[in-house]
Amino acid sequence: MAPGRPEAVGRGTVAPSSWSLGDGQAVPWEYAPAPESRDVVSIAPRYRLFIGGEDVPASDDGHFLTLDPATEEPLAEIARATTADVDRAVEAARRAFRSWGALPGRERAKYLFRIARILQERSRELAVLETLDGGKPIKESRDVDVPLASAHFWYYAGWADKLEYALPGRSPRPLGVAAQVIPWNFPLLMLAWKIAPALAAGNTVVLKPASATPLSALLFADICRQAELPPGVVNIITGPGDIGLALVSHPDVDKVAFTGSTAVGREIGRAVAGTDKGLTLELGGKAANIVFDDAPFDQAIEGVVNGIFFNQGEVCCAGSRLLVQESIADPFIDRLKERLSTIRVGDPMDKNTDVGAINNPAQLERIESLIEAGVAEGAELYQPACELPARGWFVRPTLFTNVSQSMRIAREEVFGPVLSVLTFRTPEEAIEKANNTPYGLSAGVWTEKGSRILSMVSRLRAGVVWANTFNRFDPTSPFGGYKESGFGREGGLHGLLPYLDIDP
Ligand code: NAP
Ligand code: MG
Repeated sequence: MAPGRPEAVGRGTVAPSSWSLGDGQAVPWEYAPAPESRDVVSIAPRYRLFIGGEDVPASDDGHFLTLDPATEEPLAEIARATTADVDRAVEAARRAFRSWGALPGRERAKYLFRIARILQERSRELAVLETLDGGKPIKESRDVDVPLASAHFWYYAGWADKLEYALPGRSPRPLGVAAQVIPWNFPLLMLAWKIAPALAAGNTVVLKPASATPLSALLFADICRQAELPPGVVNIITGPGDIGLALVSHPDVDKVAFTGSTAVGREIGRAVAGTDKGLTLELGGKAANIVFDDAPFDQAIEGVVNGIFFNQGEVCCAGSRLLVQESIADPFIDRLKERLSTIRVGDPMDKNTDVGAINNPAQLERIESLIEAGVAEGAELYQPACELPARGWFVRPTLFTNVSQSMRIAREEVFGPVLSVLTFRTPEEAIEKANNTPYGLSAGVWTEKGSRILSMVSRLRAGVVWANTFNRFDPTSPFGGYKESGFGREGGLHGLLPYLDIDP
């Protein structure tokens, strides 16, 4: 190899964080800034509610601000709905349901196909908006969030005229008005997961996005108008958590779908209990990513890194507990540390950024306090020496070793870029530790042995288990949890069922 040239970076090698000139002098990697342009999207100074196909102010004209997590600067003023606005939105959805619910499936499908296509056409705008409002790296909103959101509309458009075939002899009928409340970590994608199956099944919708990330939902309102969706089929209301509660508690709502924290999920469960509303809850997780000693080493390293640092770890199914077989634990952890030192943390709008900004200061505080708890409880902390931007809410990629199952970092959902490493000797021990959590959303298994994958999958109490990969999503595949991770499935044919009234 020519002096001064770094080793090839690719499969089977690890990018060094610096390389030598040949005279022993270390030269750190430097990346020229590669910012995406914010000019592709025009952000209005003020946004209103989207009810009955119209932009309307909140009934008391109240508003709040949404901020850019990377700069802490306000992006726009957002209307703060009142309970009177919740009533208006549910009324608009009920009115629209009378004709939308009666439309033949093939007609509904045309609108869904149109929305899917417009999402693709406006993908750059949506990706930039999602990154500015939420702090996630532009390469993730561009390559994951937006294409997947569009894929959900394509997929469910295909079901709209085939419900009779999917459920033969069971007379599938829409439920009516769906109330949907979503979190800030995948704002557009969660909207697509909720709205696409609801509309395909013939329901109308009132959706409340998270207060920290309302902008892509409000751009989606514009897309509904562009697609000439009949007024009131989709309504978007913005406002705090108690507006979410008022929405799901509204007596004229037939179906409630929530994605968010387990604590709020419980509250919604209580509000809906005793009514005949359908309910699905997608809540938190504490997934185990299990690496056996025969696993493809470098792919497993990449899978573990992607599993916990994708979207800053603010992912309900993040692989936040690494269970690595004791016989390879030392080399595996050494390589992970090396790999962590090559992760680029910083401006989410830079196309080279791997880990962007934490969505909001409360979440940053929670992550930092759990990191402190990890140290206080005796785990060993490793963070690469990367520089964090002076402004904005950022955390270094964090790895804890010497973790025991009783520690808070091993039990609680951090929802941040923090990986806890535990070890195991036998598959039984791995299963025991992986299932030792109140959650049950996802898990990962890394091994060359197909039979071991099948045996592990059948014993892991998790809604989704990835084998030799992690964090892969597809609209055809159902997603959802066990235990405190909630119930009900989104995606696939399973994702249509909660939006349908079917003969037993
Ligand atoms: P969150 O506090 O539960 O909020 C989620 C949504 O619920 C937001 O729109 C929020 O509005 C609203 N809300 C807050 N209090 C409410 C109440 N009492 N009644 C009705 N709605 C209420 O969760 P988050 O902080 O946004 O998201 C992080 C959590 O979501 C994590 O625990 C994560 O695991 C979970 N999550 C799960 C999945 C999944 O698919 N299983 C996916 C993503 C996230 P405001 O924003 O206005 O407070
Ligand atoms: Mg924001």
